[in-house]
Amino acid sequence: MPSTRALIHAPWSASKVSTALRCPRLFHFKYVEKIKEPEVMPEARIGKAVHKVLELVLMGTPLDEALTTVRAELPTDSEQRRFDHLGTAIPSFVARVGQFRRRRRVARQLVEYSLAVREDLSVTQFYSGDAYYRGVLDLGYLFEDDALALLDHKTGVRLPGSSIVDQLEGYGVLAAAAFRHVKTFWFGIHWIAERAVEWSAPVKPSVVLDRLVPDLLDNIEAAALAVSDGPRPNPGPYCDRCSYRDRCPASKELRYEPVEYYEDDE
Ligand code: SF4
Repeated sequence: MPSTRALIHAPWSASKVSTALRCPRLFHFKYVEKIKEPEVMPEARIGKAVHKVLELVLMGTPLDEALTTVRAELPTDSEQRRFDHLGTAIPSFVARVGQFRRRRRVARQLVEYSLAVREDLSVTQFYSGDAYYRGVLDLGYLFEDDALALLDHKTGVRLPGSSIVDQLEGYGVLAAAAFRHVKTFWFGIHWIAERAVEWSAPVKPSVVLDRLVPDLLDNIEAAALAVSDGPRPNPGPYCDRCSYRDRCPASKELRYEPVEYYEDDE
């Protein structure tokens, strides 16, 4: 059973858990006070734009049309140039997906697919009041042999040392709850800038149940505990990428710390 403090902040998601663990002050701005992001970081906007292109193309929009439409929504030349650079990786990914779909017997493609579970891990609607954990799968393929491949697109730099299954554990739990007939899961990360797709070894439903579910529930409890003392700031290098940094006194102290100059005694 989840604790009361975990239930208070439900529904949880992967980003909500990591925000709580990183900085309770940021968690409060975003999820408790629900203050609209005063400043959207260019990285976030470019990442969203690239995700949007992939979504459109995988749903059948011609690539050039998707790139042109989404690019036009970026506000500056410099963001458009960075988008163009990442966009050059998309055609080869789309071609790879096409080849892969011709080779494998795909029963269903899932693009930007929303999933949610209640606290007992039964499936519910994404926006339902009883959702305890939820997420949106970037891309999934259900095969006719009851296997499911889940892929998460990432525009950031590759994280060394962190297992793919651990990074995608929440999606694994959601997918296992929603597709109970699946006998094998593959977890993959699409590193867009590096034009690489990294896959885990196949994972059985028993592993999801025995390892991923307890890990996820523990992480949610740790996140709820981290924010239970109130909006304590936890400044660090990530403050430079925090959308709320101009509202946060701790960030100002960190960024504008006065520099002391010492007289040379000699
Ligand atoms: S600026 Fe830093 S300390 Fe302040 S809310 Fe953002 S991440 Fe937390």
